[in-house]
Amino acid sequence: MSVVTRFPPSPTGHLHLGGARTAIINWMYAKQNGGNFIVRMEDTDKGRSSPEFESSILNSLNWFGLDFEKPVIRQSDSAVNHRKIISQLLDSGKAYRCTCSLERLEQLRAEQRSAGLKPRYDRRCRDREISASTGTPFVVRLKIPESGSIKFGDLVQGSVEYQNAELDDLIIARSDGSPTYHLSSVVDDIEAGVSHVIRGDDHLNNTPRQIHIFDALNIKAPVYGHIPLLHSVDGKKLSKRSGLGNILSLAEEGVLPNALLNYLANIGWSGDNGEVHQKEKLFEKFDLSSISKSSARFDINKLYWFNQQHMVTSPPSSLVKIFKTFVEESEKFDQSFFEKVIALYTGRANTIKDMAEKSFFFFKKPSDYDSKARQKFINPQALIILSQAINRLQNLDDWNRQSIDGELKRIVAENDIAFPMLGQPIRIALSGGTNSPDISQTLNILGRIESLDRMYFAAENLRS
Ligand code: GLU
Repeated sequence: MSVVTRFPPSPTGHLHLGGARTAIINWMYAKQNGGNFIVRMEDTDKGRSSPEFESSILNSLNWFGLDFEKPVIRQSDSAVNHRKIISQLLDSGKAYRCTCSLERLEQLRAEQRSAGLKPRYDRRCRDREISASTGTPFVVRLKIPESGSIKFGDLVQGSVEYQNAELDDLIIARSDGSPTYHLSSVVDDIEAGVSHVIRGDDHLNNTPRQIHIFDALNIKAPVYGHIPLLHSVDGKKLSKRSGLGNILSLAEEGVLPNALLNYLANIGWSGDNGEVHQKEKLFEKFDLSSISKSSARFDINKLYWFNQQHMVTSPPSSLVKIFKTFVEESEKFDQSFFEKVIALYTGRANTIKDMAEKSFFFFKKPSDYDSKARQKFINPQALIILSQAINRLQNLDDWNRQSIDGELKRIVAENDIAFPMLGQPIRIALSGGTNSPDISQTLNILGRIESLDRMYFAAENLRS
């Protein structure tokens, strides 16, 4: 059997983390089985669907680099096919027209509830043979067998069974003739040759109903896998309001696509022990059957950890483009300068944005100095040593990390002082405070002219 998996979002919002995880799992499953992965826009709810959400979802999937079959399928393009199948089910006697009014159904439900029964349709129209020209509005319902059960082996949940007696005769067409979700989803899955339906476990209840549609059409149902939904670390359902409702907002923060892909592919199963992998390796290792049945937890700190690992292993040149988006007047600096700053910070930041915030002083001279740092490290002696350092660095033959380091150590030894008494005033001069990486590396990257310029300026301005 050739494997075809699918991701069928409704374009009524951006791609959120839970949806992204479902898409990634489907993509990995297809890849590891040499199959195809399709994306289908379930856009039949015209009131809530929008082309903007559709392109936002596709942009997110492309950002991850998930390759899906083109062109993207649109459910609305299959309306004729849906109606054809509804007629076919009516003609074969597997479905029937039901003219029960909403009032009748409501009254029925109220009666059943007050009698302590589970509310369900009483199948009044099932054998009434109502014709299409009845003149009364009707819906179309599928005949669900009155006894027996639907049993299926779920790749995640194990063996699942639903008693038919628990199921209502399912509505497959509304009174305006439009197909319901169950009907269109099944018909479109058949059309695309979907072999595996892997989706959130909030859809588990839908599965026996959909299997009945496959049965009525004499078509073998796909294999199912229902994965637990993603929750936040405190156990709450991940909501759009948690700020994680849109994948592209994480991208804007400078989370790398491979890092988010790696983390989302890792959540909720034990097999991989949270290893750091690039895309290709991820799907080789993935094992759907070891996904845990209990809810998966999304922990932003773990995501940051993965992001840091991916930043460290990415060539700095590949991070320049996104890094630049956080730097004002970025055109003033050349590619190699960006690469050096990035290389210096990759192990020290959670995201590219965080990296840009921490290294801001490389791109902007300090105009002011941190008052605490000033109080602690700036005094007449420190200013003398700072001037001495200016002279010595000015005359240094070679400007590189080693020669700078050697010269600073000599100054420290000659003055018989502890290193911070020289290092901290230079740091303050270069960055405005005391939080900067290795001082000789910082001087080296900033360059002789810029470093000395900042040190002169500080020697003048820190005096007062
Ligand atoms: N459009 C449905 C959703 O987004 C699809 C569910 C499915 O059949 O996978 O929940």
